[in-house]
Amino acid sequence: MKTIAILGSTGSIGTQTLEVVRSNPDLKVAALAAGSSVEKLEAQVREFRPGVVGMWSPEAARDLKARISDLDVKVVSGMEGLLEIAVLPEISVLVTAIVGMIGIRPTVAAIEAGKDIALANKETLVTAGHIIMPLARKRGVSILPVDSEHSAIFQSLNGEPSGRIEKILLTASGGPFRGMKREQLARMQVEDALKHPNWSMGRKITVDSSTLVNKGLEVMEAGWLFDVEPDRIQVVVHPQSILHSAVQFVDGAVIGQMGVPDMKLPIQYALFYPDRRPMGGRRVDLFELGRLTFEKPDTETFPGLELAYRAARLGGSMPTVFNAANEKAVALFLEKRISYLQIPELIESAMEEHAVIEDPTVEQILETERLTYEWIAGRIS
Ligand code: NDP
Ligand code: MG
Repeated sequence: MKTIAILGSTGSIGTQTLEVVRSNPDLKVAALAAGSSVEKLEAQVREFRPGVVGMWSPEAARDLKARISDLDVKVVSGMEGLLEIAVLPEISVLVTAIVGMIGIRPTVAAIEAGKDIALANKETLVTAGHIIMPLARKRGVSILPVDSEHSAIFQSLNGEPSGRIEKILLTASGGPFRGMKREQLARMQVEDALKHPNWSMGRKITVDSSTLVNKGLEVMEAGWLFDVEPDRIQVVVHPQSILHSAVQFVDGAVIGQMGVPDMKLPIQYALFYPDRRPMGGRRVDLFELGRLTFEKPDTETFPGLELAYRAARLGGSMPTVFNAANEKAVALFLEKRISYLQIPELIESAMEEHAVIEDPTVEQILETERLTYEWIAGRIS
């Protein structure tokens, strides 16, 4: 029996993690947490019977508590609640499936308490990788990637040390706007950006896929996970999303992982590593596919990727600015308050404005996030 907790259980990754739990009876869920989706969380509590549940907002927590008063479940809220769940003695793995830097503190707490992390929340590594990775090594805990590309790299490495990596080939679908030029992008609306060709994901990451900012965040995520500098991570556009990424080793061998696009595979792999469990579902049919294609990313039309490389090379607090500026800009775009092309423009100007803090503490990261949000809000109002 393996006991886990899921932060962000009502989201895209969270619900797919629960699907994996449904088909693996030896997984037990000790705790679940979400932002404000009370009804969804109630249904999950009734099905999975965790001992503790968390809601970010105190009102939602009160509401949930009233709804499940017939059950013996502890309801917690806010950051305190997330931190309590992260260190529950009965869990061995924390699944971080929330969006944004809110994930940093619970992740750090869980590592300090010796829990392995099944990490979907990429913003945590992007902004605090310099804190998370050394701490994980010190405590002897594993950071198991859930992000499909990073899981593919992890599966391809299969335990080989990072010294044997010549290059990482990080694949990208190119998103719904692949092949378009700036004039066309200028007209793109929220509905267009939310139509991802291959993956069904949360709203924020779907927009990030269309701008290639998601790929930029993944370059930084891969850098921390596999100890490789950004210039040895090559983004390869692969519209079919069948090769989920590959490693080019020092002897020239390229080993990659293929499969149909389905997040349940990387989730299950992270939960049972080093075991590989059976899983149903569709299979790759090479004859039906006929061919797989690869192209260079168009960084002129999609400057988000280049900005991410710039942030990664500068390091320190700059990835936080890149990430926070993007979060705020995407939120404004989803509220239809800015145009699509303003997303990368705002990221670039926020980065230009910022003086890098080397080796920032968690407090400095969160303060940088706050200042970046504020700066962008000031520019827009
Ligand atoms: P969603 O938006 O679908 O889900 C986010 C989840 O986090 C929801 O359960 C939400 O609850 C919860 N949440 C939000 N804010 C808080 C908070 N303050 N406290 C507690 N819970 C909170 O996101 P995704 O599942 O798409 O993405 C999650 C993470 O995984 C992101 O970092 C993303 O980049 C990464 N990722 C996602 C992939 C995907 O396929 N979706 C692929 C690879 C990585 P509520 O429902 O109440 O709002
Ligand atoms: Mg990904």
